[in-house]
Amino acid sequence: MSEILLEVNNLKKYFPITGGFLGKVVGNVKAVDGVSFSINKGEAFGLVGESGSGKTTIGQTILRMNEKTSGTVKFGGIDIHNLSKKDLKALRPKVQYIFQDPYSSLDPKMRIGDAIGEPLLEHGFATKQNVREKVEEIILLCGMSSNYIDRFPHEFSGGQRQRIVIARAMALNPEFVVADEPVSSLDVSIQAQIINLFSDLRQKKGLSYLFISHDLSVVEHLCNRIAIMYLGVIVELATRDELFSNPQHPYTKALLSAIPVPDPTLKRNRIILKGNIPSPSNPPSGCRFHTRCPYVMDKCSKTVPELKEIAEGHQSACHLA
Ligand code: SF4
Repeated sequence: MSEILLEVNNLKKYFPITGGFLGKVVGNVKAVDGVSFSINKGEAFGLVGESGSGKTTIGQTILRMNEKTSGTVKFGGIDIHNLSKKDLKALRPKVQYIFQDPYSSLDPKMRIGDAIGEPLLEHGFATKQNVREKVEEIILLCGMSSNYIDRFPHEFSGGQRQRIVIARAMALNPEFVVADEPVSSLDVSIQAQIINLFSDLRQKKGLSYLFISHDLSVVEHLCNRIAIMYLGVIVELATRDELFSNPQHPYTKALLSAIPVPDPTLKRNRIILKGNIPSPSNPPSGCRFHTRCPYVMDKCSKTVPELKEIAEGHQSACHLA
């Protein structure tokens, strides 16, 4: 039986909107509005949705880079949001966050060896005497040459920089990594190499991932299970195979239809969604997707569809399911 590493229960994160002279709270951006899921030890869990769906807010709130509005986040059974500052600092090495942009993630004035060595020294994982040796080990583990150590970030391509960012996250031997759109700024050919690196590291180190992406094809080769988000809520959650072979939610179907087919003789019927994702400060009533759904019915604007199990391990939030 799989062991649960991370458990998120009914998590909400609202950002207040202030207005008027006195800066009163006049509303809320409901970035995450009641999300529940769990990630097992050694599992790669994908979170997919358009920009504005709340994926990044979930990733950051899970690791308490944001304070939650309500709900619980348990890591190894411990409620992260109830930890004291001291206990949270002690947890930090075990949980790491990889940001989307490898350019702004690295200090341009810091040599690569120092950027990777800094957290090792700060958390007592290395001494001044052996830090270089440890940095070399990590750099090799992440598929780079040890002569990168004395160079500066501007000497590297986007793909190499992302490897360096990953190496820095791996330095503290984490158990869990949130990777937030880690390949979206890279060329497609480089994307595949970085995904392979994530996959290798997972196997070698027994890591678990929350892998955030707007692109289903990116998570397809890495993730065991995938949750689809729309406007602050999960609308479908299933194993990768089930989601790709038997998608149930109309939004998932639209996302799948947008994946290019490598064979030019094959044609996929692309589902084009109307308009843009609505504002999370004023989400549509009933099913949040009803303003764009090709199958919308009367009931959809009135009743919120529950995220319910429609097959083993497969949940969907749609009145058609
Ligand atoms: Fe579409 Fe209605 Fe299903 Fe929402 S509940 S996805 S609007 S059919």
